[in-house]
Amino acid sequence: MKNCVDLHTHSTASDGSLTPRELVKLACNSKLSAIALTDHDTVDGLDEAEQAAKEFGIEFIRGCELSSKYNSYCVHIVGLFLPENLENYPHFMTALAEFQKNRDNRNCGMVEKLNALGIKISLEELQSKAGGDIIGRPHFAQLLCEKKIVHSEAEAFDKYLAKDKLAYVPRKSVTAHKAVSLLKSIDALSVLAHPKLIKCSHKELDTLVSELKELGLSAIEVYHSSHSQKDERELVGLAKKYDLQISGGSDFHGNPKPKIQLGKGKGGLRIPYFVLEKLKSIL
Ligand code: AMP
Ligand code: FE
Ligand code: FE
Ligand code: ZN
Repeated sequence: MKNCVDLHTHSTASDGSLTPRELVKLACNSKLSAIALTDHDTVDGLDEAEQAAKEFGIEFIRGCELSSKYNSYCVHIVGLFLPENLENYPHFMTALAEFQKNRDNRNCGMVEKLNALGIKISLEELQSKAGGDIIGRPHFAQLLCEKKIVHSEAEAFDKYLAKDKLAYVPRKSVTAHKAVSLLKSIDALSVLAHPKLIKCSHKELDTLVSELKELGLSAIEVYHSSHSQKDERELVGLAKKYDLQISGGSDFHGNPKPKIQLGKGKGGLRIPYFVLEKLKSIL
């Protein structure tokens, strides 16, 4: 993976299974040239990862992945090049705390729904599973598997956790527009993450991108483990149309998504260093 980068990854600070340090070590062993840590709604893993990157001699980009919405769709916005001194941006830290509160409320509701279905599961168990402050649906899936309520994490989502399934509770979230503005306000780059997972129509995606561009969206995540080559071609076209940069990452989570490898995705992913260079050129 020489001269390749991965600009979308998760650690134990959210729903990944490797600690930030282990993740950076793996990036180094995989011979990646640079890695961004982009945990869901938190920046908690960044200092540890950055320290490890210095130790292992690999370029590191401070990032996050904000959960937001557009109409009824879940939209993820990846932030890249977050400033080091986030304590100087209290409005950003307050906003992140709000993201986490909305997540906690949703999690409480899902625990209640599962309990009402006769499935014994507690927030404490989820907390110990998660390790960090962020409890996500993948942690629910892991516990349901361990308790032998389901045979696989995929089944946990299909039966209980996916949208409109038995234990699903929607989360209050900010609009994608707000998420992009928030990242702009701290001089970070913003990337529309895995657009093909949004499941909206072409027309809706086009409208979303044009509206977000107005607010300062920097790039579209063209390269992602879930995108086909056709998706990539289509998204390159969309980026060109709105004069946006291109980004890419595997969305590596470790054990929760065992088929996705760091840097390589499902095997064929390869994000050249010049993708990162072009992103840096607009900083
Ligand atoms: P949360 O942020 O807690 O709502 O959890 C969202 C995460 O759950 C996503 O980042 C995916 O990793 C995972 N996820 C969402 N839907 C599914 C699904 N249908 N099957 C498997 N994993 C899913
Ligand atoms: Fe995740
Ligand atoms: Fe995502
Ligand atoms: Zn992600």
